[in-house]
Amino acid sequence: MNTERMRSLGEKRSVIRELFEYGNKRKAEIGAENVFDFSIGNPSVPAPKEFSEELCRLLAEENPVSVHGYTSAPGDFSARKAIAENLNERFETAFAPEHLYLTCGAAASLTISLSAVVNDGEEVIIFAPFFPEYPVFIETAGGKPISVPCRSSDFQIDFYELEKALNKNTAAVIINSPNNPSGAVLSEECFEKLGKTLLEAEEKFGRKIYLISDEPYRELVYGEIKIPFVTKYYADTIICYSWSKSLSIPGERIGYILVSPENTKWKSLYSGICGAGRALGFVCAPSLFQHMIPKCIKMTSDISVYAENRNLLYDSLAGMGFKAVRPDGAFYLFVKSPEADAKAFSEKAKKHEILIVPSDDFGMEGFVRISYCVPKEQIERSLPNFKKLAEEYSL
Ligand code: PLP
Repeated sequence: MNTERMRSLGEKRSVIRELFEYGNKRKAEIGAENVFDFSIGNPSVPAPKEFSEELCRLLAEENPVSVHGYTSAPGDFSARKAIAENLNERFETAFAPEHLYLTCGAAASLTISLSAVVNDGEEVIIFAPFFPEYPVFIETAGGKPISVPCRSSDFQIDFYELEKALNKNTAAVIINSPNNPSGAVLSEECFEKLGKTLLEAEEKFGRKIYLISDEPYRELVYGEIKIPFVTKYYADTIICYSWSKSLSIPGERIGYILVSPENTKWKSLYSGICGAGRALGFVCAPSLFQHMIPKCIKMTSDISVYAENRNLLYDSLAGMGFKAVRPDGAFYLFVKSPEADAKAFSEKAKKHEILIVPSDDFGMEGFVRISYCVPKEQIERSLPNFKKLAEEYSL
């Protein structure tokens, strides 16, 4: 069964990949400037100049045996210390290096955390719309993904639906704020209520229910929005972080897991994380980028570019009659499909050379995801085609 599952996972074509490949083919046929590819979430802003300079300096000046060598499995101590100090300064928390475990990005943080807290057959709640890899990661850890719909009016948690889904077999709940694909940022009120709901469920069912907070987009928020720090609302929290998006280095594979010291059993949880990292064969996070962490802990790439893109795209599409919740973070706009079948809408958009992802793979029907991590000119040039698409639906 396992080999079959792996084969089918390997063979299953992702809609996003298919659109991306179609886009490349189409660009070769009609010219790159005439194809508007909004399919993929690859940061379009380069890593900061200072980051590249520090990286060159590191390679030129520091001991190569140490820079490229194995580190301890949880990660280099000075890197973990730099992260803990930075978090404590920004969020008035009390983290220490021993609460941190460095990983190969948020994906690895998630697979390790799930393996550490889910027993075979236990349930993990995810909120739709969700990152399509969640069910794959949960099932690989032996768990069962349980999809709970968000409120479609604002993509905040629907507590009625959450309470219905929680039961004695629930091992964990995954949240992702700012969200891929909706761009929604969970409010402080939502965090407070979530903490209370999960604590009550732990008492009611007499078991630990872990809150796994997937945060690769934490630094990508626009305007005055502040993201609450989740450990303040619920002790049994695991944070899965990554620099893929905030520093525009997704190919370098660097992130971390943070266990909350408020959790009375955090030491045993941390041992489980170390054990899962070992069992999954991660060995250690990329050493070169571990060495970069103390140097770049305060850097981000130029996030203002995404804020501008968001404003341009949201305002323009809303002006044409498309319906969407204005995103506060990440770099995605989640637009209501003007017809019930989002796949059909995406196909019609393709005829106007616009590539957008139908929402079905995100666990929710009737929307499309538009990734606006693209050059601003692409959005500007695509607008007449979006207008024609809107006219086709008489919006
Ligand atoms: N979680 C979400 C919601 C994502 O969108 C992504 C990547 O797009 C990941 C996790 C994986 O991120 P990483 O590149 O850090 O593994």
